[in-house]
Amino acid sequence: MMPLLQVQHLSKAFGGNQAVNDVSFDVHAGDMLALIGPNGAGKSTTFHLINGQLLPDAGEVLLNGMSILGQTPHALSRMGVSRTFQVAQTFASLTVLENVQLALLSADGLGFSLWRKATQYRNADAMHLLAQVQLDTQAQRPCHALAYGDVKRLELAMSLANQPRLLLMDEPTAGMSPQERHALMALTRELVRSQGVSVLFTEHSMDVVFEHAHRILVMARGSLMAQGDPQSIAQHPDVKAVYFGRGTRGARRAVSADDVEGVSSASVATTSIGATITADKVSPT
Ligand code: ADP
Ligand code: MG
Repeated sequence: MMPLLQVQHLSKAFGGNQAVNDVSFDVHAGDMLALIGPNGAGKSTTFHLINGQLLPDAGEVLLNGMSILGQTPHALSRMGVSRTFQVAQTFASLTVLENVQLALLSADGLGFSLWRKATQYRNADAMHLLAQVQLDTQAQRPCHALAYGDVKRLELAMSLANQPRLLLMDEPTAGMSPQERHALMALTRELVRSQGVSVLFTEHSMDVVFEHAHRILVMARGSLMAQGDPQSIAQHPDVKAVYFGRGTRGARRAVSADDVEGVSSASVATTSIGATITADKVSPT
């Protein structure tokens, strides 16, 4: 079966900085794929190349076998490629329901100028989307009254307004507590299962990645150094070297622990592959 998305030999440099270097991978229907790697590895640039914010120097991105290079993010949204909304894009004074209605309006190619005339716009559909992220009971609350985790769930509901086949989530859980991270990604995984959406996401918590991803792509310094299911990635010697500092004496160590993004001195993450990361040391257990 043809993959939903094919990324082929994608490269992008900023000046002399090779941000993405010959990266190839496929996303299949129903995939929940994590893209991981240290700070500056090229994850966001890869997202931007897929979602039309950047053009590659070389390579191809195919959706259902057809090139989507050069398509605007808006055109891509109409083709079923969605990315998560940012907090700033939600209208804080509007209700939760109204925000989803605005996302539906946008997905239908209609301008927000129609908004005043359309307060009932696709009300039932909006409520259905909210129910999918378990926010229906909060539909009438203004967004500014929501807890942070609920804002993130609202963003997820809004990104589903165009009924995407592929959802691109770059750091969807940024700023969330570990518990909220798990809850949001469990919800996303359930959407993958029930709606047949494919998800490509980045995430710094290895706990979350190894629990929720079907497959994992590992980037370092612009290149894809490994891909596979969580078990094979956990066993991959190069990945261990990058993430867990194994073989610091003699063997290769692509990045230092200090480069591992999203790990603050206050946070200690116990990973499912048996190691503990802190800001200043990475120690296999
Ligand atoms: P990640 O998301 O994995 O942290 P990025 O894709 O944001 O990594 O960045 C990869 C590299 O490209 C970094 O060295 C970064 O500084 C550089 N970079 C990213 N975006 C730009 C840009 N718009 N202009 C110049 N350099 C950039
Ligand atoms: Mg990034």
